[in-house]
Amino acid sequence: MKVKGKYMKSILSVAMLAVALCGCTGKDDTLKMITEATFPPYEFLRGQEIVGIDVEICRAVAQRLNRPFKAETVDFDSVIPAVISGKADLAAAGITITEDRKKNVDFSIPYVKTGIVVISKKSNLFQTTDQLKGKKIGVQSGTTSENYVLEQLQQEPERSKSPAEAVAALKAGRVAFVIADIDPAKNCVKGDDELALSDFITSEEYAVAIRKGQPELLAAINATIAELKANGTLAKWIADFTAESDSLKDK
Ligand code: GLN
Repeated sequence: MKVKGKYMKSILSVAMLAVALCGCTGKDDTLKMITEATFPPYEFLRGQEIVGIDVEICRAVAQRLNRPFKAETVDFDSVIPAVISGKADLAAAGITITEDRKKNVDFSIPYVKTGIVVISKKSNLFQTTDQLKGKKIGVQSGTTSENYVLEQLQQEPERSKSPAEAVAALKAGRVAFVIADIDPAKNCVKGDDELALSDFITSEEYAVAIRKGQPELLAAINATIAELKANGTLAKWIADFTAESDSLKDK
């Protein structure tokens, strides 16, 4: 018994030493971001890599926390559920702060003021919201644009997986108008003489969303965003990723 006890003790100390040496506690320390990479310049694919303003914001949070970082892309309507279930730590996908979403997640301080716009064909140019009534309107599923059609227009939208897919439906004549956030909308319309963009029809703000009840993580995100705003980094990322996603379109 004595020998066995000694034997066990040394196995234990070797195991503890191994843990201390490689720093692997068995717990994955990676800060996981969940996003939806069809939303330039906030998130888009550069080859296989997910890049964009939101990715850099989340990477900066990981750096502040000294944790490895990983980004993953899913459909937009699965982004918020992924942080609620704990599959991911940070949700950033041009997510608008809404009262409804606030019931399920905590939001950081906002990092961009923005809104949605109407994309129309110049041959059927959008001028007033009365034109939208009773028409087929393309939106990305799960977005504030979808809510606009459901709540303000009291009708069913035509749902797509991405703003670009909705715009393809507009060009093919399957929908009369598309509603989308201004920046991806600008990206879709760029270089297309057939299409036009309206002014904002809503006023919205983007923020990072996390599972409720994590005040330390929320404070780290807020401090990161405040710093990136104050030192001009955020403005630079907005300019750089807008230019990059526009140029990817030209290819
Ligand atoms: N800002 C919009 C929303 O939160 C759209 C976001 C998106 O499609 N990535 O619903």
